[in-house]
Amino acid sequence: MPTSLSEFSFIDRYSSCRDGKLHCGTVLGIGDDCALLTGRPEHELAVSTDMLIEGCHFFANVPPTTLGHKALAVNLSDLAAMGAEPRAFTLALALPDVHSARQNWLDAFAHGLFALAERHGCELVGGDTTSGPLNICITVFGDVPCGQALRRDAAKPGDDIWVSGTLGDARLALGALRNEWPLAADELPALCHALQMPEPRIALGIALRGVAHAALDLSDGLAGDLAHILKRSNVTACVDIDALPRSATLRAQPLSIQHRCIIEGGDDYELCFTAPPSRRNTLLELAVHIGVPLTRIGIIYTLGHLSTDTDNAAAIDPHTVRWYDASGASISKTWRSFDHFYKA
Ligand SMILES: [Mg+2]
Repeated sequence: MPTSLSEFSFIDRYSSCRDGKLHCGTVLGIGDDCALLTGRPEHELAVSTDMLIEGCHFFANVPPTTLGHKALAVNLSDLAAMGAEPRAFTLALALPDVHSARQNWLDAFAHGLFALAERHGCELVGGDTTSGPLNICITVFGDVPCGQALRRDAAKPGDDIWVSGTLGDARLALGALRNEWPLAADELPALCHALQMPEPRIALGIALRGVAHAALDLSDGLAGDLAHILKRSNVTACVDIDALPRSATLRAQPLSIQHRCIIEGGDDYELCFTAPPSRRNTLLELAVHIGVPLTRIGIIYTLGHLSTDTDNAAAIDPHTVRWYDASGASISKTWRSFDHFYKA
C-alpha cells in the first residue's frame, strides 16, 4: 500500500520548523488553521504565487530533487525581482495516487525544496496536500523596506537596461530535450542544470534597492518580459542584440538559434532592470562584490522615440522593444514570449 499523502506525512514531516524553532516574525507556524506572522517595522510584505504543472512546466521524468528546488526557486526569483528578502512560504501539492515509489519521490522533492529554503532563511509556514495530477503551487512572502521595492512601473527615459548572468541556456537545453536541435552529449548536463536548477538572484535584488529604477525576473523570455516594464512605465526601449550575454555553448550555435534562445527563451530567472547612467560604476562594482555578472544591453526612451520606424513591430505597439545589432542596424523581426508548454 502506498503511504497515505496527508498533511501530516509531508507538511509536518518536512517542515523546516521541525526542530521546534520558529523564524523571528513567525508567531505561529504549521499546525493551526492559519500561520501567524508579525509585520516587520517599516517594511512592506511582498507576496507572490507560482504554479508548476507536469507536462507544462516540467517533464514527467524530471528528478524530484531538482523539481523541489525549481518550484521554490521560481517563486524566490519573484521576490528577488522586487528587492525583497525571503521570509516564509506555503506549499500546495497534488500528487497522483499511482505515483511509483511515492515516499522516495517525496523525500527527494523535499530535499531539493528545503535545501534552497534553508539557504535563504525561508520558512515553510503552511500548506495543503492532496491526490491528483502532479501540481506544485508555492506562495512566498518577503520583506522590503517601505518605498524601496523594485517595481515594473519605475523605468525612466534615459535609463540603461541591464541583465544579470547569461540568457538562453535553459531554452537551449529544452530545445535539445525536445529534439528541436542537436547538442553534443557532453554539453547537455550543464545546460540542463540551467533549466532545472535556476538560482534566484536574491542578493542582487536586495543590492539593487536604491540603485535600480524598475526590475523584473526573466521567466518568459526577454522580449515578452521587458515589454512588461515598457508598458507599465509607459516608455519604449532599444536593445543591442549583440550585447546580450550568452554562454560559450550557446554562442557556438547558429545565430538563429542563439536569437531564439536569448530573446524568446524562458526559464532564465535572471534579473532585468533599468538604472540611470550615473549608476554604471556602482553597478559594475556591485557585480564584482556579489559575484554575478551584469551586462548593459539597451536604453529606455520616451514613448514617441523612433515612432516612424514602420518596419518594426514597435510601429504597431509603441511599447515593443526595438532591436538593433552592434553596427546600429535595426532588426525587423517580431519576437514572441516563451511558451511554457513543454510539448512541442
Ligand atoms: Mg516574475
